[in-house]
Amino acid sequence: MRQAISTVDELLALVAVDRRDLPRLEEPSAFPLRVPLSFVQRMRIATPDDPLLLQVLPLGVETNAVDGFVADPLRETGGDLGPGIISKYRGRTLLITTGACPVHCRYCFRRHFPYSESALRGAMDASLAALATLDHDEIILSGGDPLSLSNSRLERLFEGLCRLPRLRRLRIHTRFPIIVPQRVDQALLELLCRLPVPLTIVTHVNHAQEIDASVAGGMRDLRDAGATLLNQGVLLAGINAMASTQAELAEALFDIGIVPYYLHQLDPVAGAAHFRVDDDQAQTIMAELRASLPGYLVPRLVREIPGETAKTAVA
Ligand code: SF4
Repeated sequence: MRQAISTVDELLALVAVDRRDLPRLEEPSAFPLRVPLSFVQRMRIATPDDPLLLQVLPLGVETNAVDGFVADPLRETGGDLGPGIISKYRGRTLLITTGACPVHCRYCFRRHFPYSESALRGAMDASLAALATLDHDEIILSGGDPLSLSNSRLERLFEGLCRLPRLRRLRIHTRFPIIVPQRVDQALLELLCRLPVPLTIVTHVNHAQEIDASVAGGMRDLRDAGATLLNQGVLLAGINAMASTQAELAEALFDIGIVPYYLHQLDPVAGAAHFRVDDDQAQTIMAELRASLPGYLVPRLVREIPGETAKTAVA
């Protein structure tokens, strides 16, 4: 992670792409470019429209104000349940463990999230005490990326969570094993094996090109550690908004033991409007997917609407 690329010039040099072959680029100070070499190595050389490159490249259009695209599209800030705690749906509580991520995805709905005020940070004991007062069966570790935490910090967190009287399931939302597969190390696997409750890991893969042998190996290890693996991706213009691309992704995920679970319509976060796919096009893609794949390989097309009791099917 210390070698992660943080400037546009460095990234373009590594993938042999000329600025003149791209739209205007920015070097944003807030939510800067961040991408580790392990992910850059999966980008195609001299390919300005590479689907992995476009997920991380800060374009100038990000600074355009677009109606309906706001800093906090899911209205997640402002709650006072405890440090890092968000309660959206009955029976499940979300814990924002950290603001750190292995990669900065330009479409991220938390790209403006005030992690310094709202993440777990040093307040783990206060969060655990607050969680003990809530009614839930499942805790969802989110972020940022929960696997940005060190194994020793995760161990402390797991110990505290597993003492919660009503906890029946633990879920981790993470992109780390995709971006830096080496994160799935022996110490992490041993921690996961010791969990006394069923574990679900929800990965975040948007394109089959993100999956290589090293990602596959990490997923095999996570399955061997007892985790159920699901994927949620985001439908992104210019990256994966074609039925053939989605079908290839679904097959590639299933090949490595991950069930394609959700395909999200983009959350309208400021700076990401250029990734938007309209609902009609999304429906057409889903109809083609349903016609070409077995049902268990077709993810559910959903969007998150603040205040709803569950994710909303796009129908
Ligand atoms: S890894 Fe997840 S939380 Fe981090 S920037 Fe990407 S989408 Fe956002």
